[in-house]
Amino acid sequence: MTTGLVWHESYWRHDPGAGAGVLPAGPWVPPGEPVDSAEPKRRLKALLDASGFTAKLHPIEAREATHGQLARVHTRGYLARVREASAAGGGEVGPMARIGAGGYAIAALAAGGVIAAIDAVLARRVDNAYAFVRPSGHHATADAGMGFCVFSNAAIGALHALEQHGLARIALVDWDVHHGNGAQAVFWNDPRALTVSLHQDGTFPRHTGSVAERGEGRGAGTNLNIPLPPGCTGAAYRAAFERVILPALERFRPELIVVPCGYDAGFQDPLSRMMLGPEDFRWMAETIAAAARSLCQGRLVLCQEGGYSASTVPFLGLPVFEALSGMSSGVPNPVAELFATIPHRGLLAHQEAAVEAARRAAEV
Ligand SMILES: [Zn+2]
Repeated sequence: MTTGLVWHESYWRHDPGAGAGVLPAGPWVPPGEPVDSAEPKRRLKALLDASGFTAKLHPIEAREATHGQLARVHTRGYLARVREASAAGGGEVGPMARIGAGGYAIAALAAGGVIAAIDAVLARRVDNAYAFVRPSGHHATADAGMGFCVFSNAAIGALHALEQHGLARIALVDWDVHHGNGAQAVFWNDPRALTVSLHQDGTFPRHTGSVAERGEGRGAGTNLNIPLPPGCTGAAYRAAFERVILPALERFRPELIVVPCGYDAGFQDPLSRMMLGPEDFRWMAETIAAAARSLCQGRLVLCQEGGYSASTVPFLGLPVFEALSGMSSGVPNPVAELFATIPHRGLLAHQEAAVEAARRAAEV
């Protein structure tokens, strides 16, 4: 199996601003380090490089998404706002979303990175691909950035696949711990995309992501939310995949699967309270790759979203790369050893109830 990797040095230069609106700061507490710092992802890339794993992947060159490609999702007014903020040395582009000087080009390179990964998979230059992009995208909507996200990378890539490559059906399966509100909004009335979001209930955005949000019009039934209570382990995620996500994928029969992949459901992430360890991320990646093989000739693209624990993200991400490529890094996983010391891994009744609520909503 050949796995492609999109990455560019510029991704580390995206400047989300100090604090990024998350940490409390004021007269008594000084602003902290940026929550969305490049560090967790830079350390994952460093691990891939140092272990020799990057060399086993097929490099895919990212290009900046064009205005026309970005405009499939975003309004002209919003694109102008990002361009102006970029030229002015940085600024806010939406709630809790900020860019630094030159940030337009970096965000366009992130969206273009997902497009490049999709092009490589659809041209069969690689079997699957990982777009290791930054800034994240899954909260951005048509007319605003949001929650560290500037352009709606996965949705822009999905529309490129639908409109440029002529695909008929795409599934987006978002396992970042926050709600994938951007793709939900973009494809709300669009029957060509099945948008699935598996997230911690009520984190971000605060008031979206319920099981009742199912799409409308011709897109009715093609949006699927699985809001889970805090504290879920891999058992709840497995139940969500087996009872909700995999059956929905089989009904929809996508021609390509795109995964907005965050590591912020990891057990030490500062922005959530979920309990996934390295083997849980491996299981999700193996499971979605197997679904892609059975449904769409293995066509699968992961794109990087959140993940804020610098100490654990490298070792949550490595098993994902191993699962996609079918290769072992041979690197011992200290985070897996740490995670193994934590008891209580079963599916608790209130967690199962949340999965069952999503299952019932999906089958209406
Ligand atoms: Zn997130």
